[in-house]
Amino acid sequence: MDVHVRRRLRSDRKIRPFTVNDYVFDSNWARAQDGADPLRKFRGEFLIPPHGDVEQTYLCGNSLGLQPRATRQALLDELDDWARLGVEGHVHGRHPWLPYHREVRDALAEIVGAEPSEVVAMNSLTVNLHLMMVSFYRPTRERHAILIERNAFPSDRHAVASQIAFHGYDPDEALIELDGEESGGTVSMAAIERALHQHGSRIALVLWPGVQYLTGQAFDLAAITKLAHAQRCTIGFDLAHAAGNIITNLHDSGCDFAAWCSYKYLNSGPGAVAGCFVHERHARENLPRFAGWWGHREDTRFQMRPGFDPTPGADGWQLSNPPIFALAPLRVSLEIFQRAGMQRLHQKSKKLTGYLDWLIRTQLNDVLEILTPAEPERRGAQLSVRVRHGREAGRSLFEYLVAHGVLGDWREPDVMRLSPAPLYNRFQDCFALAEAVQAWRNASA
Ligand SMILES: *Cc1c(COP(=O)(O)O)cnc(C)c1O
Repeated sequence: MDVHVRRRLRSDRKIRPFTVNDYVFDSNWARAQDGADPLRKFRGEFLIPPHGDVEQTYLCGNSLGLQPRATRQALLDELDDWARLGVEGHVHGRHPWLPYHREVRDALAEIVGAEPSEVVAMNSLTVNLHLMMVSFYRPTRERHAILIERNAFPSDRHAVASQIAFHGYDPDEALIELDGEESGGTVSMAAIERALHQHGSRIALVLWPGVQYLTGQAFDLAAITKLAHAQRCTIGFDLAHAAGNIITNLHDSGCDFAAWCSYKYLNSGPGAVAGCFVHERHARENLPRFAGWWGHREDTRFQMRPGFDPTPGADGWQLSNPPIFALAPLRVSLEIFQRAGMQRLHQKSKKLTGYLDWLIRTQLNDVLEILTPAEPERRGAQLSVRVRHGREAGRSLFEYLVAHGVLGDWREPDVMRLSPAPLYNRFQDCFALAEAVQAWRNASA
C-alpha cells in the first residue's frame, strides 16, 4: 500500500461524510473498507457459490439472492414438525402453521415501510399483481387505460394487457407505454408528469416500478403517487427490484397497492413467496376481489359458512392456507434483515455501489457506459452497463467475466447488470470486477 493510501485510511477513522473523493483503486484499500464495514459479519451468514477453489464474485443478487446458511435447518425443522406432529403442526409446531404468515409480517412491513396490517406474504409476484388489479383496476368506458413504462418487465406487461382484455377493452388502445426519454433509457419525473397531464382523464391505473429492472433507475414513489392521484388514477408499484434494496416508505407514499417477489434482494430462494401491500385507507372498504377462505376473518373462518367476511387489511386478500416450506426461507431471511436494519444496509449500499460506479467511470470508461442514473437517490444497488464496442464485445466481456468467476447478468440485447448486495458483497467484489474487466481489455487489445 502506498503512503498516499495509508494516509487516506488513517484519516478515514475520523468521522466525516464519505465522498466520491475517498475512493481508491487499490485492492488493499478495498480490503480495508471491508474490514471497517460494520455489517461485514453478515457475509458469513450466506453461502457464496464457489468458483473452483475460491468464492465467486457474485453480483447477481438482483436476480437471485444467495442462500442464508440458516435456511436449510429452518426447512428441516418444518419437515420434522410435519413428521412428528402431522396435522397438529398447525397448532403445535415450533412455528405453528395456522398463523405462520404473521411470523413474517412485522419484518416485511419494516422493510417496505408499511404498517403490519398493510402487508401480507402470499402467492408469487405476478399472481399478486393480478389480485391487486381485480380490486384496483376498475375500468369504465371513459376511463379504462393503464399507464406503464415502455421497458416494463414482460410479466407486468402481460398482466396489465390481459387485465385490459379481460374487461373487454383493447390493449392496443388502452395500454399507454411511456418511453424512457433520458440517455440510458431512464424516465424523468417531468415525462411522467406530462403523460399524466396529457392522458390522465382516461387512465384508470398507473403501474410503476420502484426500481426499474433493466436500467436500475429508482423512482420517487410519493411524487409519482401524488401526480397519479391528482388525476384520480389509482396507482400500484411493482417493488420486485426495490424490496430489500432501497427505502420505499410505502405507507407514506400514499400509493394504493404494491407487490414484490422475495427471491431477489430478499434472499428467500427461487420462486419464494411474494409480498403484497394494500394501503390502510382501503383496509375496510368493501372492494371487489377474488376471495378464498384464508382471506375470511380468522375468528369465524372455521365455522365454514358460505358468506365471505374479509379480514380487514392486506390479510383479506389471501386465498389459500400458506405454503410453509416456501415461507420458512422468507422467515429466516427477514430475521437477517431485522438484525442488519434497512437503514444501515441502504447506507452501505450507497457507498458500495458508489465505489463500483466510481471504478467504472474512472478506470473503465473506455470500455463501459453506465445506463443507471448517477444520483444515489435515483438508483439502488444495481448498475446497468453497456459495452461501448457493441453487442458482440459485450457478450465476449460477459463470458470472460463468468469464466473468471465474476457473475453479473446479461439482458438482451446488450445490457449487463451488476448488483453488489450490501448483505454479502464487499468492496473487494467491486474491485475484482474492475480488475477482470481490465484483464479482458488487455487480452482483447
Ligand atoms: C422479477 C420480476 C418479475 C417476476 O415475476 P414472478 O411472478 O415472480 O415470476 C416480475 N416483474 C418484475 C418487474 C420483476 O423484476
